[in-house]
Amino acid sequence: MKIIPYGRQQITDEDILAVNNVLRSDLLTQGPAIQAFENAFASYCGSNYAIALSNGTTALHLAALALGVNGSSNVITSPITFVASANCVRYCGGTVWFADIDPVTYTMDIGKVRQLIASKPKGFFQGIIPVDFAGFAVNLEELRALADEHGLWIIEDACHSPGGYFTDKSGKKQVCGNGKFAEISVFSFHPVKHIACGEGGMITTDNKELYEKIMLLRTHGITKDPQLLEDHHGGWYYEMQQLGYNYRLTDFQSALGLSQLGRAENGMERRKAIARKYNETFTNMPGIVSHSGLVTGHAYHLYIIEVNDRKALYDFLKEKNIYTQVHYIPVHTMPYYKQFGWKQGDFPSAEQYYNRCLSLPMYPALSDEEQDYVITSIKTFFA
Ligand SMILES: *Cc1c(COP(=O)(O)O)cnc(C)c1O
Repeated sequence: MKIIPYGRQQITDEDILAVNNVLRSDLLTQGPAIQAFENAFASYCGSNYAIALSNGTTALHLAALALGVNGSSNVITSPITFVASANCVRYCGGTVWFADIDPVTYTMDIGKVRQLIASKPKGFFQGIIPVDFAGFAVNLEELRALADEHGLWIIEDACHSPGGYFTDKSGKKQVCGNGKFAEISVFSFHPVKHIACGEGGMITTDNKELYEKIMLLRTHGITKDPQLLEDHHGGWYYEMQQLGYNYRLTDFQSALGLSQLGRAENGMERRKAIARKYNETFTNMPGIVSHSGLVTGHAYHLYIIEVNDRKALYDFLKEKNIYTQVHYIPVHTMPYYKQFGWKQGDFPSAEQYYNRCLSLPMYPALSDEEQDYVITSIKTFFA
């Protein structure tokens, strides 16, 4: 059997044609595909605005900048996430705080967030960065209520959850990144995510002011918009009004993203089918705990199981060319974060989860035969 990774992209002839068309056009960096991708993505999420960026990390950085994170900011995120969710606060000089996870959803325990906020003086925290971990959509209606009590903003790290949703109190679907609860939502188009651009990211928001700030920061803080200029010398004229960056997505990457977005719903159906089969297998299988079950609104970026002897299973599967992965090593235990005083033992649920978790192959291009091979191999391990 050839190598089966935990996640991978799916590239069709249509995708290749879309990229080719841009490569043969006049504009490789700032052509029409960017806006087409942004418009399609905004409508996919149901947000007013979408801004394409060079990757998910730069999207997080600009989100934090636009919300005013600076050296005196204190921001809360999950210890179980990719490091970029926390790093974006550090890029701006702010301090990162963690709230332990719920051992079933693996997302930040809102009770723990509430406790943390209550343990500090009023006004200590500025914002919260929840992560829709593995594709499980955080209930942002509840988190919004808590944030509003304390005047905090929310950046939703939705890198795992395009197309995911939670159900609000009135029974309505609230799609990740729809702009109704979080000030800003952030997505990634790294090849293991739902939509692949090679590198790529997106911000969605309903807030016009934030949208304009981020658009400016994306291209060096430079504007040519006559309405914003302080002066005007002629057709060539532009002004750099803020310290911005070059965080743009190229036009050919956007064309790939747009083409991929067209198949997002199909991809989600396939992910659900894969989850269903794993679920049927692991329910009642001694030795395996799985909460990645058929949760309504789950985007199934990852399918995670928990086992006692995780390393042995990981090694056993690797021998069989099944490359599982661990998501994630708790951020607070990283050498970089330990310098701020965080240590092993600070977040027991996150650490216990980390000791036991394993992400199984989960991506639309995974064939039935490959999934059966994964399942048979796991059964062999436990036999
Ligand atoms: C992938 C990912 C990111 C970073 O995205 P890149 O596009 O790789 O920079 C941030 N947060 C989470 C939760 C991710 O999974």
